[in-house]
Amino acid sequence: MPKIKHKPEVMHLVVVVAVAIFIALASVFIYNTTSSINKGVNQYSDRLASQKSNFVKNTISYEVKLLVNFSACLANYKTIPSGIIVKDIAALEKSITTAEAIFIADENGDVISSKNVSMNVSHREYFRNGIKGKVCVSKPLYSEPDGKMVNFISVPIYGDYKRIIGIVVGVYEEHIFSDMLDMSFSGGEKDSNGYILNNNGEVIMHGNYVLGDDVPQFDSFFSSELLGDVSETDIATVRDNFMKLGSSGIIKTTYNNERYVIIYDGFSEIDDLHYLVIAKDDVVSAQTNSFISKSIIMYIFFIVVLLLVIVAYILIVRLTFKRLKSANERISRIAYVDSLTGYSTWDKFVLDAKKLLQYDYRRYALVSFDIDKFKAINDMYGHDEGNRVLKLIADTVNRNIENTETFSRINSDNYYILMLYHDDSQISERIRNLIQAIEYEITEFVPVLSFGVYRILDSNVSIRRMGDLADIAKRTVKYGDDSAYAFYTESMLESMREEKRIENEMQNALDMHEFCVFYQPKVSLDGNVNLTGAEALVRWIKDGNVISPGKFIPLFERNRFIVKLDFYIMDQVCIKIKQWQKYYKDLLISVNMSRVHLKDPQFAEKLYSICASHNVSPSNIEIEITESAAYESLETLVNVFRELKEYGFNISIDDFGSGYSSLNMLKDLPADVLKIDRAFLAETDSNKRANDILGHVIRMASSLGMHTICEGIETDEQAKLLGGLGCEMAQGFYFAKPMPSDSFEEILKGNSKTINIPKEALREDT
Ligand code: C2E
Ligand code: MG
Ligand code: MG
Repeated sequence: MPKIKHKPEVMHLVVVVAVAIFIALASVFIYNTTSSINKGVNQYSDRLASQKSNFVKNTISYEVKLLVNFSACLANYKTIPSGIIVKDIAALEKSITTAEAIFIADENGDVISSKNVSMNVSHREYFRNGIKGKVCVSKPLYSEPDGKMVNFISVPIYGDYKRIIGIVVGVYEEHIFSDMLDMSFSGGEKDSNGYILNNNGEVIMHGNYVLGDDVPQFDSFFSSELLGDVSETDIATVRDNFMKLGSSGIIKTTYNNERYVIIYDGFSEIDDLHYLVIAKDDVVSAQTNSFISKSIIMYIFFIVVLLLVIVAYILIVRLTFKRLKSANERISRIAYVDSLTGYSTWDKFVLDAKKLLQYDYRRYALVSFDIDKFKAINDMYGHDEGNRVLKLIADTVNRNIENTETFSRINSDNYYILMLYHDDSQISERIRNLIQAIEYEITEFVPVLSFGVYRILDSNVSIRRMGDLADIAKRTVKYGDDSAYAFYTESMLESMREEKRIENEMQNALDMHEFCVFYQPKVSLDGNVNLTGAEALVRWIKDGNVISPGKFIPLFERNRFIVKLDFYIMDQVCIKIKQWQKYYKDLLISVNMSRVHLKDPQFAEKLYSICASHNVSPSNIEIEITESAAYESLETLVNVFRELKEYGFNISIDDFGSGYSSLNMLKDLPADVLKIDRAFLAETDSNKRANDILGHVIRMASSLGMHTICEGIETDEQAKLLGGLGCEMAQGFYFAKPMPSDSFEEILKGNSKTINIPKEALREDT
C-alpha cells in the first residue's frame, strides 16, 4: 500500500527560509560588528573623551549662562549704574558657589565689585574680547586683589539699543577647571592629560596629570613636538576642524617610540574653545581591546544562541513531522485500508485507479462482482464466517491481479477490480479462473458470484460512474444461476430506462386490470395423474402482449409495488375459487407471495381478510414463499408461517434447492409442501449422486410430514424419475403450461384434453 506524502517540501522551505533569515541576520550582525570593531578604537575612545568633554563644557557653559543672565538684568541701561548693582553682585556671588568672585567692568574697563575694589582691566584680553561681544575664557592669570592664579570668564553686557556697555566677569580659581580636565580611560586612576584650547590651538587651561616626563609641554598645540610624526595634511584638517563650531576628531602620533592618541572635541556654544585629551595608545587600546573582546564574546554568544535556535527549530520541525506523519499514517490507514480485508477501501481504489488510468485507460475494464444472497450466508453460517469469506475472496483476488491492476471491497460483499485486458475473451477467462480460485478456497458451500464488466472507453467517465455501469451489467446476471458475468452494453442502460417506464405505468396497469392470473396445473404422481390444484402466476397483458413476471417482479420487489400486486392477485384468485368450487370443491390454488410481505406484521391477517371478503376458506389456498425468504430472517419466516397456519392457509416452500437452503432449516418451518426447484432436475439426467440427493430430500421432507412437489417437469424421464423417487406431485410444461383462467376452467369442467398423460408410464419404476 503506497504511503501518503504530506508535502514536506513546504516545511523544508520554511526551514530553509528560517535558516536564510538567520544567516542574513548573522551576516548583518557580523558586518556591523566587524566595522564596529574597526571603528571601535576610535569611537570608544572618542565617546569616552566626549563624555568627559561634555562634563567640562557643561560646567563652563553653566557658568557662562549665569553671567549672561546677570548681564541681561542691565539690558535697559545706557551705562553701568555703579551705585545700584553692588549689592546685586554680592547676591550673585553668594548664589554662584563655583566662582570665587563676580565683577563688572564698564566700557572703560573700570571695575565695579562687591568689595569696592578700584581697578581697571581694560588691558586684559578677556576685557578686549568681552567688550567686542565675545564670550571669553581666559588663561590662568594672577589675580591682583588676592594674589591667586585664576581663570576669568567674561560675557558682554548689552545696554539700551543693544549697545555693549560693559562686561560681567566671573573669577575662578585655577584648580576648579584644571581638576576636571584630565580623564581616565580605564575608569580608575587618571591616565591622560586634558586641555582647553582656543581656535589657534593655544592652551587656555590644562589638567594636573603628567602623562610622562618625556611628553613635551606645549603652549600652542599646533606647534607641539608631539605632532612631529603627524602629516601636514592631518594637522591642516585638525586646524580646519578647530574653526568649525563643535567639531571633533582623533589623531594618532608617535613620540619617542611611544604611541599617543589625541582626541579633540569643540564646544558647541562657545566658538573659541576646544577640549583636548592626550593619552597613551596602549591605555586606550586596552579599553578598546576589552570592548572588542566583549564584542567578540557577544558575537560568539549570538552565534551559539543562533545555532541552538536553529537546532531546536529543526528538532521541533522533525518531531512535528514525525507526529504528523504517524497521525496521517493512522488516518490514511483508516481512510485507505479496509479493516476487514486489509486491502484498499473505495477511496484508495479511486485514487489508485485514477493513477493507473491516466496513461492508457483503454487497456482497462472495471469489473464489479458480488456474492448472491450474501446475507443468507451471514445468517446461516454466522457473521464471523461471512467475514472470513469476504477476506478469503479479497485474498484470492489479490493473488490473481497484477501490479498494474487494483481492487477493492467497496462495501458489504461488493468488489471492484480494475483489470487489464486485450479482448473480451481474456476478461471472460480471467473471471472464470477467479471464480474457480474462489470456489477452491471456500469449502463450506459453493458461493454464487455475479460479475459485471465495464470496458473503459472514455476517460471522462468518473470511476464512480464506471462502477455503476459495471453494476448494471452485474445485475443482468440472473440470481439463482451459477456464477456468471455480463459485459455492459448500451442496451442495459436501455433496459434500466425500460424499468423506469414500467414504474411509471404499473399503477395504471393495476387500475386498468392489465395484470391477470394464469394457472398452471399441479398433478399427483402417486400412480394416477390427477389434478391436485394449480399455481396462480401473474401475467401483464399490455397492448395484446403477454409480459412474464420475470420482467417486472424483481423491480416490483425493489419498489415494493409487489405488495399491492400480490394482494390483487390473491383477490382475483379468490374470485375464481368461488366460481370454480362448483366444479371442484376441494380445489387448492397456490398463490406466490413475495418475501417483501414478511416485514408486515399484519400480513397473514390481511390475506385472511381477502379470503373472508370472498367467503373463501384459507384451506383452498396454498401460500408459496421462496426458500430465499429464509435468508432475511429464518425466525420471521417461522413466525409468519405459524400465523398463516393459524388462519388455516396451506404453506409451500417454493424453489427449494435454488439457493443456499439447508435441509436443516426445514425442521423449523411449519410448511405443508416442499416445492423442489427445477434446478435439481438439471443435474439428475446424468448424475447418479444428484438422484440420490433428490431422493434424500424427498424422504427427508416426508419424514418431516411435508408433501413434496417438483416443478419444471419437462420430460417423460423426469416425471418417471420423480415418481420413482417418491415425489408426490409435479408441475411442469410436460403436464401443462400456465394458462388463462378460461382454459383452466375448461380442465376443471373436464372438457379439456390438456392433462393427458399415460398413467401407466408414471407407474413404471425407474
Ligand atoms: P415460481 O413460483 O417458481 O413459478 C414457477 C415458474 O416456473 C413459472 O414462471 C412457470 O411458468 C415456470 N415453469 C413451470 N413449469 C416449467 C417448466 O416445465 N419449464 C420451465 N422452464 N419453466 C416452468 P413464471 O410464471 O414466469 O414465474 C416466475 C416467477 O415469478 C415465479 O416462480 C414466482 O416466483 C414469480 N411469480 C409469478 N407470479 C407471481 C405473483 O403473483 N406474485 C409473486 N410474488 N410472484 C410471482
Ligand atoms: Mg411458485
Ligand atoms: Mg418455483
